[in-house]
Amino acid sequence: MIARFGDWMQTFTGRQFWPLDPRPDEIAVEDIAHALAMQCRYAGHCLRFYSVAEHSVLLSEWVMAEAGTHAALWALLHDASEAYLVDVPRPVKPYLAGYKPAEAVVMRAVAARFGLAPDIPAIVKQADDRIIADERANLSACVAQWDFDAIPLGVTLHYWTPDVAEERFLEAFRWLIDAVDVDRCIACDMPFKDGDAVYDDVSGGSLHAACCGPEVESYVDAAGEPLKPGEAIPAPYIWRAQP
Ligand SMILES: [Zn+2]
Repeated sequence: MIARFGDWMQTFTGRQFWPLDPRPDEIAVEDIAHALAMQCRYAGHCLRFYSVAEHSVLLSEWVMAEAGTHAALWALLHDASEAYLVDVPRPVKPYLAGYKPAEAVVMRAVAARFGLAPDIPAIVKQADDRIIADERANLSACVAQWDFDAIPLGVTLHYWTPDVAEERFLEAFRWLIDAVDVDRCIACDMPFKDGDAVYDDVSGGSLHAACCGPEVESYVDAAGEPLKPGEAIPAPYIWRAQP
């Protein structure tokens, strides 16, 4: 057992998660959807409850129409780190030493878990700033002028309850993860990455060599036919990401 950095927290689904030492295979979308649906944006300084999960779904829908499925999945998950590190107000964040690095490490793990490019697409970042102009409809008039002149996205806030927000988040996730069509291991569900040792399975899917069982009949030969009992299992092939 390798020692982990920092302490662990229990997640909604009963998993252990090390927020300062995250591993992609310990990230579950059910944990993200639930925790983000239970958190209110703007540290709760809203007129009505408005969750980070709803914010993520609205952003994702807008990005989907502009930039397609990969960017839309990124948009849906752009605040996934907040499921473990909570949504800290922007003015506070730079002063919590270690928060931004922790956020970056969790987001890298999230990206690896779901087969996303490591860096947030520029359109998601821009839309995430602009949506604040839409979300001001849910904030009181301010006594002071904001230093902010972004153009609203034109999205409508629904004020979903946590239950509804969680379900909508999961629906959007299931649709998008299917649509982006990342090749992943049928045993552990992790996306394949460059250099992974992989076998094709009789079912038509593929698995990590480390995730394969010893049953010869579940392996295929070069022609795609199942191996026969007694036949030697060939070496795995090395996964190469498509350029
Ligand atoms: Zn695997």
